[in-house]
Amino acid sequence: MKYYLILIVILLLALFLLFQEKTLPDNWKSYIENVNSNAKGYKILESLCFDIGGRVSGTEKGRKAENFVIEQLKSFGYQDIEEDTFSHQGWERISCSLQLDSEPGKEIKVLSLGLTPDTSNIKTEIVDVNGGIPEDYMAIQQDSVKGKLVLVDMKTISGKKRYHRVDKVQIAADNGAAGIIFYNSMFGDVISIGTAAYGKISAIPAVSISREDGMKIRNQLYENKKIIGILNVKNKVQETESANISTELPGSELDDEVVLISAHLDAWDVGQGAIDNGSSVAVVLEIARQFKLQNIHPKRRIRFTFFMAEEFGLVGSTKFVDSHEVLMKKLFYVINLEMNLAPNGINLLLDDRDREWFETLCSNLEGLGMEHRVIADPWLESDHTAFMLKGIPTLTFEENSNIFSRRTYHSNQDNIRYVSEKDMLNCSKVVGIVLLEIANSTKLKKWNLTQEQVQMKVTTFGIDDKLELRKISVIKN
Ligand SMILES: [Zn+2]
Repeated sequence: MKYYLILIVILLLALFLLFQEKTLPDNWKSYIENVNSNAKGYKILESLCFDIGGRVSGTEKGRKAENFVIEQLKSFGYQDIEEDTFSHQGWERISCSLQLDSEPGKEIKVLSLGLTPDTSNIKTEIVDVNGGIPEDYMAIQQDSVKGKLVLVDMKTISGKKRYHRVDKVQIAADNGAAGIIFYNSMFGDVISIGTAAYGKISAIPAVSISREDGMKIRNQLYENKKIIGILNVKNKVQETESANISTELPGSELDDEVVLISAHLDAWDVGQGAIDNGSSVAVVLEIARQFKLQNIHPKRRIRFTFFMAEEFGLVGSTKFVDSHEVLMKKLFYVINLEMNLAPNGINLLLDDRDREWFETLCSNLEGLGMEHRVIADPWLESDHTAFMLKGIPTLTFEENSNIFSRRTYHSNQDNIRYVSEKDMLNCSKVVGIVLLEIANSTKLKKWNLTQEQVQMKVTTFGIDDKLELRKISVIKN
């Protein structure tokens, strides 16, 4: 009988703990209920996708997108809206064609990558260089790609170090290639693009074809056939202007400490820019709207920022960091959203001194899809980079990879039909709560890394060679 009672007590305790874990703290409940009962995030995304669509920085649609965000913020009740105009290398596609001498008259579906030169007319042999990373070039005969078109898999080759598309273009140019033809990492006749260089016109033309076409050419080359590619590319290339858009919610106690949340607004022209990065733009707008609507007064100041020219190589955010010295000193944390809809963890990037605090936060958010998952794994492919390299506490969200892998960004498949309204609603809750918790925390203390400390960490994490490839130096001379 005694044992029986003990067993019941243990069972009740276990049930209580289980229930506890799934229950969200009280102060989040009203935020969540309000988001549930009055959500507009998906409506905002619909407008962005259908009324504007692809929005390349510095083009008419880019400007339309900037105005769209300004109007949205005004309609939520934000009055002071900052437009940081900056000039940058502009680019718009005109035409692109690729033919093979093995199949005369047949055009292969091809798109040029962003920031490729204005005019390229190339007729030369195609050489398969596999993943297009340094060891692939080392594996083939020296000089065998000089003046040739190299065929490269866009995908990261598993087990090897990850090289970004831009790195692969630079590596091909360094090896003397005349041009680079990427084929997509996934099947399904999807052509995936992106920028070919960071903020300037690439050294060689870079174009993209489907995985199906890429495999066909590879097979022919494998059978020792010599293939001549005829590549003609035309783009409009000129200096242009864009504007990063920001607004703020004042802090009630620690007004000179600022938590900045950002998402890039620009998107490639071949799709709607729903996944990359309309989804995150809509989430940040929805959070800004909810905070105003719910009369939320955070302890620290919150800044909502929408960057342009991210797709051209983090241009807008880099210019922003360089031109906002006073603000940089006030930044308490920077949260950057990049294609986030199903967050399941937090990446503290270069420095995880606040890991414990974030672990507790994540486990309290388990009911909303977060896992007990806090990592420190710096990456360089979105707007957090310039802040992170400045030594400012910066974080990004980890994504549920099952959901993420189904998304096709940087292609004509970047469409709102791949964005679930339910995911977006959940993301607005998780990110809104993380933002609020940071802005209100009494436990977190402000810190910054010196440039020397950043340099040391960059070396420890082994990302210094990538920075070098991109000609980014941590310590400015
Ligand atoms: Zn993006």
